[in-house]
Amino acid sequence: MFKVLKNGLKKYKDRRVSGNLKRYYTTQGEVPISADVVVIGGGIAGCNTLYQLTKRGVNAVLLERAKVTSGTTWHTAGLVWSLRPSDLEVKLLQDSRNVYNSLEKETGEYAGWINNGGLFISRNEARTQEYLRLHTMGKAMGIPSEVLSPTDAQKVFPILDPSAFEMALYSPQDGTVDPSMSCNALLKESKKNGGKVYEECAILDIHYSHNLLGNKEVTGVHTDKGFIKTKCVVNCAGAWGPRVARFAGIPALPLVPFKHAYVVSEGIPEIRNAPNLRDHDVNLYIKIQGESCHIGGYENNPLILDQLPDNLQFHLYDLNWDVFNVHMESAASLCPTLANIGVKSTVCGPESFTPDHKPLLGEDPNLFGLYHNCGYNSSGMMFSAGCGIQLAEWIIKGRPNYNMFTFDIRRFTPSQMSRAHWAREASFESYVKNYSIVFPNDEPLAGRDTSHDALHQELVEDGAIMQVQQYDWGGAHDYPRNQDTKYEDILKGEYTFGFSKHFDIIKKEALAARNSAALFNLSYYGKFYLTGPDAQRTADLAFTANLSKRTDGWSRS
Ligand SMILES: Cc1cc2nc3c(=O)[nH]c(=O)nc-3n(C[C@H](O)[C@H](O)[C@H](O)COP(=O)(O)OP(=O)(O)OC[C@H]3O[C@@H](n4cnc5c(N)ncnc54)[C@H](O)[C@@H]3O)c2cc1C
Repeated sequence: MFKVLKNGLKKYKDRRVSGNLKRYYTTQGEVPISADVVVIGGGIAGCNTLYQLTKRGVNAVLLERAKVTSGTTWHTAGLVWSLRPSDLEVKLLQDSRNVYNSLEKETGEYAGWINNGGLFISRNEARTQEYLRLHTMGKAMGIPSEVLSPTDAQKVFPILDPSAFEMALYSPQDGTVDPSMSCNALLKESKKNGGKVYEECAILDIHYSHNLLGNKEVTGVHTDKGFIKTKCVVNCAGAWGPRVARFAGIPALPLVPFKHAYVVSEGIPEIRNAPNLRDHDVNLYIKIQGESCHIGGYENNPLILDQLPDNLQFHLYDLNWDVFNVHMESAASLCPTLANIGVKSTVCGPESFTPDHKPLLGEDPNLFGLYHNCGYNSSGMMFSAGCGIQLAEWIIKGRPNYNMFTFDIRRFTPSQMSRAHWAREASFESYVKNYSIVFPNDEPLAGRDTSHDALHQELVEDGAIMQVQQYDWGGAHDYPRNQDTKYEDILKGEYTFGFSKHFDIIKKEALAARNSAALFNLSYYGKFYLTGPDAQRTADLAFTANLSKRTDGWSRS
């Protein structure tokens, strides 16, 4: 087992932006009477947003209620990867690396980017397949990676036990970004481009009015340093995002704060300059900082933060070793040396998670001019620089350059947005499954059975399986895990990159539809009501069916 240092554990305190770093950015005095855009929150998301907006000539102001980075950003591990099983995410990560890389040149000072590479560890056949797919996808997108045998992997990460895994993927463009230095550099550049940054300046309210069509539009923000007239506000308040949304009359965002943690080991000279490491099969990551390993991961029984006080700044929680210990055991199973290394300090802070493990970006469908940029699911350092570019384009041109639908706040239906219980359960699953293999036909298990259609009962009586009720990953919700695992067992047949194990059932259904008759329940489809003088023209543009031929005006597309 790992050992804890004799002089006791420290909580990590040595990396605040308010420490010895020069503070280039704060603007003193009253807030301006107006701005094109007001960015709320001075974490990495807010700093990247301000940077991209001011770079494009937008008159933007950032307001931070405490000190820059004091929410989640200051204590991040700061890992930046290159390969994810989504082409959008690979592109965003590439953009992020480009931003962090170029900051040093722009500012003339080191901006905290370390390009030490990354190593992915595979312990089983399915994971190996996933990595090989990533490797191929990377090739197609210009992201280099190298497949390594366990003994070759040990050459780049000397404390690995090669018998603990079956292959590794080396990704040379990965690295780490220092939160204080990067935020400092982003704000320094923003200021050069005309941006203003106010610390100790809390948003107290977001004002809006109704336009001629009855839609709500942002008109300004009320702060404890005065009122700023603006038509555009960006919610970069991280785990406090839902609270900021409430200032604007938006009752809920699907964002749930969790405790997330890593520990800092004593020095191990052999690992200096080694790449960062991800052992997805045991939900583990190791960041290399000098000669220390920062060991963290995603446990099955994470702790939801029911309370997140407003005045939390540079705050860390005591680490719950009962929850965290699993990562120490996993780390020791991969790197036996770590079993005998002491832990110098622990870092456990708040971070937001969302029901589908994607951030919340874009304009709120209920309030014109309110944009969100929060809910980063423990990847805000690596994504927010790329997302900042897209968001700036979105605000300026009305749409992002990339197809951002999977990150767009509008992907959630109004009823999902209003169901706190669903958001909680589903976000819990997204935390737990953060490192699970992303199979193309996987389905979430938590938060099911929240709405029923007219045929529900009849189908259940006929043997349909609708849900895994109260899905409890690690017994953290104080109720026993559901005993009926029928659906879960069937779903396992979909955990493949090839044909589903249930292909014969799908085949039967398709043949029945073709050769005899099939009844499809489409009641869960979205419904749009198009009204007004241009309704027909819009429908002709949007739908493949020719609606003008239908007397009832209905179409299914
Ligand atoms: C232990 C740990 C390890 C992590 N490791 C990684 C990693 O390796 N790689 C990675 O990419 N990500 C990682 N993350 C996640 C990453 O750090 C976060 O996603 C990111 O820092 C969130 O940044 P943010 O700007 O959205 O939020 P924050 O940094 O929390 O910033 C939000 C800011 O808004 C301010 N605010 C709130 N309300 C108001 C108001 N009313 N008025 C004005 N200001 C307000 C807050 O004071 C705060 O400063 C990790 C997180 C944790 C906890």
